[in-house]
Amino acid sequence: MAPPPKSVIILGGGTAGWMTANLLQHRWGKSGTRVTLIESPDIGIIGVGEGSTPQLKVFFDDLGISEAEWMPRCNATFKAGIEFVGWSDRPGYERYFHPFPTDLDPFTQRSFFYATRARRTGRDVPAHPDPFYIATCIAREGRAPIAPPNFPFFVSYGYHFDAHLIGAFLRDFGTARGIEHVEARIASIDVGSDGDVAALVSDDGRRFEADFFVDASGFRAAIIEGALNEPHRSFAENLFNDRAVVTPTESLAGAQACTRSTAMSAGWAWQIPLTNRTGNGYVYSSRYIDDDAAAAELRAHLRLPEDAPVRRLAMKCGRIARSWVRNCLAVGLAQGFVEPLEATALHVVLATVKGFLEGWEKDDRDGFNRAIAARYEGIRDYLVCHYRTALRKDTDYWRDAGAMTALSESLKRIITAWFTGADLEREVLEQGIAGIYPPQSWHCMLAGYGNFPESAVLKPPGPDVTPIDMAEIERFVAGCAMNFPFHAEALKRLSEAR
Ligand SMILES: Cc1cc2nc3c(=O)[nH]c(=O)nc-3n(C[C@H](O)[C@H](O)[C@H](O)COP(=O)(O)OP(=O)(O)OC[C@H]3O[C@@H](n4cnc5c(N)ncnc54)[C@H](O)[C@@H]3O)c2cc1C
Repeated sequence: MAPPPKSVIILGGGTAGWMTANLLQHRWGKSGTRVTLIESPDIGIIGVGEGSTPQLKVFFDDLGISEAEWMPRCNATFKAGIEFVGWSDRPGYERYFHPFPTDLDPFTQRSFFYATRARRTGRDVPAHPDPFYIATCIAREGRAPIAPPNFPFFVSYGYHFDAHLIGAFLRDFGTARGIEHVEARIASIDVGSDGDVAALVSDDGRRFEADFFVDASGFRAAIIEGALNEPHRSFAENLFNDRAVVTPTESLAGAQACTRSTAMSAGWAWQIPLTNRTGNGYVYSSRYIDDDAAAAELRAHLRLPEDAPVRRLAMKCGRIARSWVRNCLAVGLAQGFVEPLEATALHVVLATVKGFLEGWEKDDRDGFNRAIAARYEGIRDYLVCHYRTALRKDTDYWRDAGAMTALSESLKRIITAWFTGADLEREVLEQGIAGIYPPQSWHCMLAGYGNFPESAVLKPPGPDVTPIDMAEIERFVAGCAMNFPFHAEALKRLSEAR
């Protein structure tokens, strides 16, 4: 097993930089590795990125940080999944919920998968995903996905949080445990004759040397692209969105434990509930709408005055060819970015650091780089599938997205399996991509948008179709959900426990 490096410098104090610094300190600090994080307050952080997947809970658990400790400090709320609103024109499919998994899903999911296949092959059976999932019911009823102590099933969940506050929390936590924090603007990077990064040099002439470097410098990708010239692979061919316009509104935190994603004329708008405010943003394609029109559309969507201030952001969608190059690992926006529809960026940061540490121990840089590239492509495919199968057709943006032909072989096989009535679960498992998005996620999306034959051509289920007792399923799901606290109550208990 390779010994840890003696010193690591992380360039960048955004969420990605501080998460990585804490993980490296946690793993290598006890072996004597000196971990330093350098950031420039003048440049600042991107300051968006306020929704997570369940992986963030694993991160805090691994560091031994309780929810009562971090959530109130970051104005955080619980997240049971994502609700997609207005993405499909099909009657009955105007909204659907992408739930995070629970150990209760196997009780109802088999029926859901069966129903979708029967409907795909022309039988008139109910196959909308929502009634089958407990996480969906929890969020719709305004509850939190926090299983009571005596509840014997695991329920996974993510969070919403303030991007600035989570960075500050992780900075305080990490510096108290030995991470050195330096404020400096890096002006140049020295690459040695062997091709390794030798030092970062600040604009006031300070020189920072280390054995290993982490590039967490955001879209600038100052080390990995700027100094090591690693190529960037764009996803623009099939992910159209390249801009965002952002504005907060007042809090609705007690009301919902989910992110809401509402389709707009040239993209979609997120709504993220924090305890003190609601985060909103419109992610759009500059090919289909200009910045002012996008800002006006977001204000109208939020019922804000025409002059309400908004923040504008450019997004670079794609990934660096290799994330670990020589003595440098890229994480966060420096490493890659797929648009935030499924809030996966911090999830990838965690997978990257975990995979890197394993790769370091096994001295397997190539295996790590292949796995991370496959993860990006897998997430990209899932997002592309949203646009390709959403069934909204009212603008050029949605018509072009629905007609998109630039699909990976993997995604073509998924879509073919669905529309030919084949076993989609088997397809996902055989492709080995269930660790990126499980069969549940693919079924929920494709069924949630109503990708079935037109109602007029569906036939009543014959004796060859096993009847599904929807009343029984709904009773079961609602009965389980009743055990969960209301979201506002769960948040109150958390701040009282602090
Ligand atoms: C519109 C939008 C919505 C998003 N929504 C989500 C979401 O819901 N969920 C999610 O997981 N992710 C989301 N993301 C992604 C998320 O914002 C980022 O992954 C996350 O904030 C981490 O960013 P970062 O740390 O890589 O970069 P940044 O926050 O940009 O930090 C870069 C750091 O590098 C420093 N730096 C750069 N150059 C230098 C230099 N020369 N010298 C010194 N310091 C330097 C900066 O000062 C800063 O500290 C979203 C992104 C966008 C654009």
